[in-house]
Amino acid sequence: MLTHCLEVPHISTGDMLRDRIRAGTECGTKLEAAMQSGSLVSDAVVNKMVEQRLSEPDTANGFILDGYPRTLDQAAHFAAWLKERGIHEVVIHLAVDYNIIIARLTGRRQCPMCGTLYNVGSHPPKVDSVCDRDGQALVIRDDDREEVIRERLEAYCRQTKPVLDYFRAAGHKVIEVDASNDPPEKIYQTICWAMTMESA
Ligand code: AMP
Repeated sequence: MLTHCLEVPHISTGDMLRDRIRAGTECGTKLEAAMQSGSLVSDAVVNKMVEQRLSEPDTANGFILDGYPRTLDQAAHFAAWLKERGIHEVVIHLAVDYNIIIARLTGRRQCPMCGTLYNVGSHPPKVDSVCDRDGQALVIRDDDREEVIRERLEAYCRQTKPVLDYFRAAGHKVIEVDASNDPPEKIYQTICWAMTMESA
């Protein structure tokens, strides 16, 4: 059914790294420095973290990786991991105009308690700066400041864009979805439709 096509665990490497930082370990402080500057953290740390997560039983029937792989090293590591297990992946490229990305990220607010995301322009909370679910004061992510966003986009062009070519060159289909203008529900439906076609 189209409306439920993505009901598998959503694994965001950014969320996992932020959890580690909140846990306050020594490794977390190193991660924080990289993340606050807008650069990527080391491939070894991320590859290990993702492998550990994917060994958990809830991923047995599929999973969505958000923000991984983000470098050629991660892509090669992950492709080998998939091949060993005979898992078929679908690569979805959500293409968004850079100016729209900057506008979305500078307007993003998040609940520090439950993680719910808002946007001051397109999806504001009912009461200004307060989470609808638990009343916590919303926060701005440290790396959502404009100068850091520009660094993140730079890292994307240099390190992550080549990953798309890597998958294409290796014969994997990359589904292109224009995510600049449509509302999230429409983009969701487009992804579900493309995935249904892919598995038909
Ligand atoms: P995100 O929440 O996906 O925007 O990620 C926030 C930050 O976490 C990035 O700017 C990187 O510093 C770090 N990060 C997340 N995923 C990765 C990854 N796959 N490889 C390296 N760094 C990552």
